[in-house]
Amino acid sequence: MTKVFKFGGALMKDAGGIRRVAGLVSDFPGTQLVVVVSALGKTTNALELLLKSLLANDKTGIEKIFIRIRRLHFEIAESLFGNARHGVFDELNNTFEELNQILNKTFENRYEAYDQVVSFGEMFSAIIVNAFFKENNIPSRFVDARAIIVTDSNFTSASIDWKFTRQTVSDRLIPLLEKGEIVLTQGFIGADKDGNTTTLGREGSDFTAALIANIIDADEITIWKDVPGIMNADPARFDDCRKLDRISYHEAIELAFFGASVIHPRTIQPAQHKNIPLYVCSFHDPSSFTLISDDTSFDDRLPKIILKDNQALLSIGSRQLAFIAEENLTRIFETFSKHKIHINMMQNSAVSFSVCFNDEPEKLEALINELKEEFFLKYNSGLQLITIRYYNGELVNELTAGKKIFLEQRSRHTIQMLVR
Ligand code: ASP
Ligand code: MG
Repeated sequence: MTKVFKFGGALMKDAGGIRRVAGLVSDFPGTQLVVVVSALGKTTNALELLLKSLLANDKTGIEKIFIRIRRLHFEIAESLFGNARHGVFDELNNTFEELNQILNKTFENRYEAYDQVVSFGEMFSAIIVNAFFKENNIPSRFVDARAIIVTDSNFTSASIDWKFTRQTVSDRLIPLLEKGEIVLTQGFIGADKDGNTTTLGREGSDFTAALIANIIDADEITIWKDVPGIMNADPARFDDCRKLDRISYHEAIELAFFGASVIHPRTIQPAQHKNIPLYVCSFHDPSSFTLISDDTSFDDRLPKIILKDNQALLSIGSRQLAFIAEENLTRIFETFSKHKIHINMMQNSAVSFSVCFNDEPEKLEALINELKEEFFLKYNSGLQLITIRYYNGELVNELTAGKKIFLEQRSRHTIQMLVR
């Protein structure tokens, strides 16, 4: 039996979480196991802030955030290892020193800088988890993801070079697994062919787990979560939510695509291609899970609600009432792609084109500067994108009551509304 486990930052926000990870891993003796970890707690967000201070040349900000990230990791390590002479502290010190040096380097652009800085969250977490596994006599072997996950150089959302990655993952991991070692690696990061660190997009560790599972032909993937499984709506916002016990790959990919945050949209395909069952499982109660597989017989018409806050809407109009058609659209899409803005919803009329996406002010500014020469632009922010799969009139009315609708799109099964 071969399994891939992925543990996210929300589970490993303190020493207790890491103890629990080690406990779970020990519960599967005799299983060939790959463990994929992401950054501890909210470290990735903190590293994004660190980068922001770096780009703004805000020395005080850099120092403050650096110290905060360092403290979090040392506090967790101290509570796990106590003894200040444990080797993990040297390793952490060296890696923080490496980060410090990177903060003094110059980069070609902010995307490259992002990957060199933000990838450190996964380095720190892997050091601590690996040391803790060793401490608990778990036969773990750390394999740096940058040595096995080969990507292009599209920093911040790199694509996998499947040919090379297939080779390196099989060559490196399979012999270790066959020897009975538990392989530990970082999610979210990889390296391009020149050895530069790259990242796969926020929350990308799920994808790392799925792609490794695909290559080593794992029997199962488990994404451990601090929720009971995939729910039909966010329990923090709605009463009477229901857990989906079993859903198909197709249904899961639809939900992930529309923004259900429990699972990264790129995770499903590698699992589906090899027909590997994917469990989204409760960290605290492993008997509670959602099983995603090729079985469609459990898919039902229960409405599923996905809310995405902090949305921006850009309406792009042509000058002189020229049609917005193929050529203009190509230009517009190229500009979005160049600035790495992912479109959540779009709609066009004869002379205008409306696009909804996550509001990230810096990216938006760059986009507007580029498009404003050619087009009339109108912009709204602070919107919410409501998606209901298997909608009904009553639910639509309930969710839009008192709200202004900016865009609306219906298909047979799904309605999307951009509201304020
Ligand atoms: N640590 C990264 C993030 O927070 C990747 C992940 O969690 O999957 O986005
Ligand atoms: Mg994370």
